[in-house]
Amino acid sequence: MHDLAEIIDRNSKEPDVAKIRSRFPVLDQEVNGKPLAYFDNAASTQKPVEVISALKEYYEHHHSNIHRGAHTLAARATDLFERTRSSVRAFINARDVEEVIFTKGTTDSINLVAATFGKAFIQQGDEVIISTMEHHSNIVPWQMLCEATNAVLKIIPVTENGELDLQAYEELLSEKTRLVAVVHASNALGTINPIKKMIQLAHQHGARFLVDGAQSLAHLEVDVQELDCDFLAFSAHKLYGPTGVGVLYGKRELLEAMPPYQGGGEMIREVTFAKTTYNDLPYKFEAGTPNIADVVAFDAALSFIQSIGKKWIQRLESQLLAHAMERCSEIKGFVPVGTAKDKVSVMSFTIRNMHPFDVGMMLDASGIAVRTGHHCTQPLMDRLGLEGTVRASFAVYNTVEEIDRLYESLVRIAKRKN
Ligand code: PMP
Repeated sequence: MHDLAEIIDRNSKEPDVAKIRSRFPVLDQEVNGKPLAYFDNAASTQKPVEVISALKEYYEHHHSNIHRGAHTLAARATDLFERTRSSVRAFINARDVEEVIFTKGTTDSINLVAATFGKAFIQQGDEVIISTMEHHSNIVPWQMLCEATNAVLKIIPVTENGELDLQAYEELLSEKTRLVAVVHASNALGTINPIKKMIQLAHQHGARFLVDGAQSLAHLEVDVQELDCDFLAFSAHKLYGPTGVGVLYGKRELLEAMPPYQGGGEMIREVTFAKTTYNDLPYKFEAGTPNIADVVAFDAALSFIQSIGKKWIQRLESQLLAHAMERCSEIKGFVPVGTAKDKVSVMSFTIRNMHPFDVGMMLDASGIAVRTGHHCTQPLMDRLGLEGTVRASFAVYNTVEEIDRLYESLVRIAKRKN
């Protein structure tokens, strides 16, 4: 179904970005009379033709509801759906496919854990630890849980350059800690957190650990067995895949001990008015008809990433980030936000004397797409004393030439007020 052999010439030293780029039809357009330079990848990546055609092919040839039918199309759609589950298992190196639950996205995955793990394991006086740099999706569900149970939410502080204060983290951990939920790579700053070490520390205190992998899976190797995380949440749409699909990985023994999330079809074994019994994993957590087509097409996105390889992706993206930082640092009035040592390809910044939104609008006039604002991390922005930032985030199809265009536009924009 996917002919990806052409993307990468394994004999060449550098990834062939032109070939990668040619798989993304949306990039081949002008915006405001200029070629589109798409730097809003941390919000959502664009989709390669492989994903778009998988969606079309699914609806044109294979669609049926899954798991329940006796007919051929039902079996075929089920096989395609379950094939993606196997690919996700391999992608994150989960022990088995039953540990891979399909959700609507990272937000949905985290809410699932807050609602079900929370119900089973969190009581009055227990503590949940998150950090100052969390996305609202990894804050609000825990606030809601703590409010409902009278548990206590503790917050790991962030240093001025955008790293977690690990000393403070160790001091927060205690026998009262039930769960730590921390982002692997920050969407607002790009900081890569030392989660392996953080997971070990949490486990030493008998606490479970949820990794928000929304920003890391497209860039970094993530092996759930090696990390030994208890939960991992991520979204397909930040991984070159479709919107509306996400994953919750959970260790089997935990998922088995947790009550179901939503009730309905598929998640049951038997329903009577006297007593209902629940289905086995992973179906226990997948009530109702899932987003079949997008799950099926997600497989093509995973193949796309695997065919390039995370090593190449990391190398390419860190070159792009280094180039962007080197060039933009020359600009008078350019203030980088988040200068951690380990970063994914996110360049957050402000331009002195200018509102981030105005900078974003002016870049858009030159065909350059960036995101501006608080990036759903208001507590982090408060900590840094900022209303928001401008964020350029890079993906495998971005080029040095595009970054030079960003630099040139920023020079013109910053000059007005600096
Ligand atoms: N966590 C992080 C770090 C994110 O960047 C995002 C998306 N911006 C989310 C959670 C939420 O992901 P989604 O909107 O796909 O549920």
